[in-house]
Formats: sequence, C-alpha cells, structure tokens
Amino acid sequence: MSTNNYDYIFAGGGAAALSLLVRMQKEGLLRDKKVLVIDKDPKVHNDRTWCFWEEKEGLFESCVIKSWDKIRFASPGYDAKLNPQPYKYKMIRSLAFYQYCKDVISQNSNIHFVQDAILHFENDVVVTSQGRYKGSLIFNSILQNLNKDESRYHYFLQHFKGKFIETEQPFFEEGVATLMDFTINQNNECRFMYVLPVSSTKALMEFTIFSENLLDDSEYETALNNYIAEKLKYHPYKIAEEEFGVIPMYNQPFPKRLNANVFNIGTNGGASKASSGFTFHFIQEESKQLVAHLKKHPTLSNYNPKGKGRFQFFDDVFLRVLREKKVPAFYLFNCMFRKLPAYLPLKFLNEETSMLEDLKILRVFPRMVFMKAAIGEFLKLRVRRAE
Ligand SMILES: Cc1cc2nc3c(=O)[nH]c(=O)nc-3n(C[C@H](O)[C@H](O)[C@H](O)COP(=O)(O)OP(=O)(O)OC[C@H]3O[C@@H](n4cnc5c(N)ncnc54)[C@H](O)[C@@H]3O)c2cc1C
Repeated sequence: MSTNNYDYIFAGGGAAALSLLVRMQKEGLLRDKKVLVIDKDPKVHNDRTWCFWEEKEGLFESCVIKSWDKIRFASPGYDAKLNPQPYKYKMIRSLAFYQYCKDVISQNSNIHFVQDAILHFENDVVVTSQGRYKGSLIFNSILQNLNKDESRYHYFLQHFKGKFIETEQPFFEEGVATLMDFTINQNNECRFMYVLPVSSTKALMEFTIFSENLLDDSEYETALNNYIAEKLKYHPYKIAEEEFGVIPMYNQPFPKRLNANVFNIGTNGGASKASSGFTFHFIQEESKQLVAHLKKHPTLSNYNPKGKGRFQFFDDVFLRVLREKKVPAFYLFNCMFRKLPAYLPLKFLNEETSMLEDLKILRVFPRMVFMKAAIGEFLKLRVRRAE
C-alpha cells in the first residue's frame, strides 16, 4: 500500500482539530501546506452541544445559538438567579460548528478530508483501515486509554443524558440558564440537572452525574423523565432530540505526545478539566497556544505547553473531596455560588483567577475537609515528583 505525504495530519476531526485548523487557516499557517483530516465520522449531525462562558465574543461567535446573561443555581434550601457579568454563558450546537469550520477550511484547496477509521500510528505514519498517510506533524485527538494507577490518581467521569424538549405554549424562562439544579435525589453522588432554554418553547434538559461508574440507560431515563414531568406538569411537550456523553474527569496527566511526530490535542491531550469536565474553553486556549508557537517555529519539537500550575493541585484536592464524600457534593458548589459573586466560580473554573481571587474562593469551602484533602494530595504529589 503506497503512503501519501502531508505536512500536517489531523487524526480525528472534532472540536479540537477543527478549532486548531480554523485558527491556523486564519493566521495563514496553512498556506502552501498539504493538510489531511481523517475522521471515521462525516460530522454532519448534531452529535453534541457545547456550553461554556466567556467575556467577549470568541472566534466561534457566529455558531453560538444562544447566550444568557443570567444563570440559575439551585440546591436544597437555596435557589438563585445570578448575574455572572462580565461572563455570558453560551451554547453552540456541534453541527453549526462543524459547518462553520468546514466553510473556513474549504477556502484552502490544500486541505483534504478522508472518512476512515484510524487503526494505529507507526511513527510519522497514520494507518487507517484503507490507507497509510505520512505526516511531518500529526495532531491526534483520538482518545487514548491511559494506564490507570488508582493509588495515585482519581478517575471520575462526567456522564449525562439530555433531551431537547419542545412545548406547544411558551413555558421556559428564555433569559435564564439553569447551570446546576441539585434539588434531585443525589444518591450519595454529585447529580444535577441543566435546563438551557434556547427559546420560550425549547430547552435542553440534561441529567448530569460526576461519579466513577456509568449508569444503566434506564436510570438516566427515569431521573430525566421524572424531572421533566415534575417541571412541565400538564404542559404538552415533545422530545425533539437526545444526547448522551461521557467526559473523563481524570487528574492523571494525559501524555502530550505519542511520539516525536504525534502531538495529542483535545480531551486526548488533557483538555478536559478534571474537576468539572468542561473542555471547550480549554480546547480554545490550547489551540491559541499552538498557533502562537507555530507562528514562530516550524515544528513542535521545542514546544512546552503552558502547564496548569496550581489549578492542577486544586483539581486534585477537589476530586479527593468528591471521592471521600465527607460533605455532599452539592454543598461544595453551594458554597461557591451562594457566598461569592457569580463570576468568580466561573473565572476559577476557567482557570483565569488571580492568586488573591483563589484565596477568596478557597475560604468558602469547609476548612477541615479541604485541609485534610490538600495534605493527602500534597503527599501524593511529593511521591510522584520523587519518582
Ligand atoms: C455529548 C457531549 C457534550 C459535551 N458538552 C460539553 C460542554 O457543554 N462543554 C464543554 O466544555 N465540553 C463538553 N463536552 C466535552 C468536549 O468539549 C467534547 O467532547 C469535545 O468534542 C472534545 O473535543 P475533541 O476534539 O477532543 O474530541 P471530539 O470532538 O470527540 O473529536 C475526536 C474525533 O475523533 C474521531 N475518531 C475517534 N476515533 C477515531 C478513529 N479510530 N478513527 C478516526 N476518527 C476517530 C471522532 O469521530 C471525533 O470526530 C461534551 C462532550 C460530549 C460527548
């Protein structure tokens, strides 16, 4: 089988690959370059919905179908509509994103797409079920299996099932996104509902869990259907679409490189935040950093991505607190949203806070629980560093 040669190969053409490609194209980095994107999926469906928050208009603003100035947080004994200014909470449906990216990319006739399943990598060669493709630089967003070490790291999953509900009559409060509604049976875990109205008659309602194991589909169904029935009561509605997702919330670092030619990006490169599962924002930060480097250097051989610094340690501690279950998980979020201005937890979760702001945030958590968890994680960190 002959091997085709490319400057850049994108193994996987989802959020991370397309975000990077669009930025590279807009910065003129793909001029005179031969580029290949390989994905097993044609990306012609809405296979997910991304929510994130940002202050200003982002690169993908034209894909945003809805943004909210108000967020709602609810937990037992507390229910508030909060103003997260300067942030807006935004929603992008994946099909609009895929189409926008492909429109930008199609301006460059040197970028080719192949729909095929990637089997493995042989140094600088991507081997698919039907071909072999050689790349000077390969960006890999196909999720790898980590060699897990449960004694050192925490492995939570964010798993969720959502339904787009359409009502006959206006029902939803269009201007308010319910970010977390913890007033559901917690089952000694971290369970909450999202209600994200894109109009007064249509909303994404999603049942989300942070835990170590997935549920049977019937359990997501029951919890979500009960919630929908309780909220909508006698209002007639239909289910327009459904989505299901699992995001790794691991504090074990994902290797940034598979080998000298293959660089890991997206969730596969560790872009999913371990304590929240939010990824879209971090994919954008990752692609900005990569583009800034590639504007100055032809390769990634001397590229050192900016580390997470102290935010890595905060994630470690948070996951330990979740795992130890000494306080109910909802209480931790309750502390943040009840005691702080709403923008601050969001800024913290985006890893954008100053040290002074971190201190303000850390003070709202139950002190002894967090101190003990921090000492435990610090000792683990020392062991990891000593090896
Ligand atoms: C349903 C869902 C909803 C989410 N919602 C949010 C959200 O609201 N906010 C947020 O911040 N994050 C969210 N995430 C997490 C994260 O933002 C997304 O998973 C995002 O798509 C990750 O981008 P990626 O490029 O790393 O992976 P993907 O977008 O999944 O891209 C990987 C690509 O690789 C392809 N692929 C996989 N295996 C192969 C193979 N063997 N051969 C060829 N191609 C292959 C896939 O088809 C896919 O297109 C969500 C995730 C899911 C699953």
